Amino acid sequence: MTVIHPDVESIVVSEEKLHQRISELAAEISRDYAGKTILLVAVLRGAALFLADLSREITVPVELDFMAVSSYGSSTKSSGVVRILKDLDEQIEGRDVLVVEDILDTGLTLKYLLKNLASRKPVSLEVVTLLSKEGKQRVPISCKYVGFSVPDAFVVGFGLDFAERYRNLPYIGVLRPSVYQD
Ligand code: IMP
Repeated sequence: MTVIHPDVESIVVSEEKLHQRISELAAEISRDYAGKTILLVAVLRGAALFLADLSREITVPVELDFMAVSSYGSSTKSSGVVRILKDLDEQIEGRDVLVVEDILDTGLTLKYLLKNLASRKPVSLEVVTLLSKEGKQRVPISCKYVGFSVPDAFVVGFGLDFAERYRNLPYIGVLRPSVYQD
């Protein structure tokens, strides 16, 4: 049985559901990219756990690369200011690029990232996000693969943090507001 962390109010996606859905996404991606090699671009650090599980279940050849962009710091609200902290090591011109994201909240981070990557002329550019926050997207993003819709609450676990903590929880849970409110 899953032991819930005391700072977590409720579990929104269980470990079992995560693994089942990630398998489904990997099967769908493998079908869609049959005969191709995918360059999976993970957005650090939140997408690291999702990338590890997803990539191991994709059956077409994959290569991995990483980007880091500034997001919330230790606050729980989107600043709208995006900065590249670490750029890709590979050239993506002519490649089939699939961006791997942890969570789509306002969409500001992805919008910036996709515009930046598109200017490097990949053959295709799509997004797989593990989570999408219901009713929160401020900018329209075309996200081809979405794992789960989650309520508009601050969630942690399976890569997602608050002030760098909780990334190693095996489920997605809502963080108790008392943890981040004085
Ligand atoms: P956006 O630019 O508002 O879409 O924010 C995207 C980024 O903010 C994600 O990649 C996460 O790093 C972070 N983020 C947004 N919502 C949450 C959350 O509920 N928990 C943890 N991180 C979040």
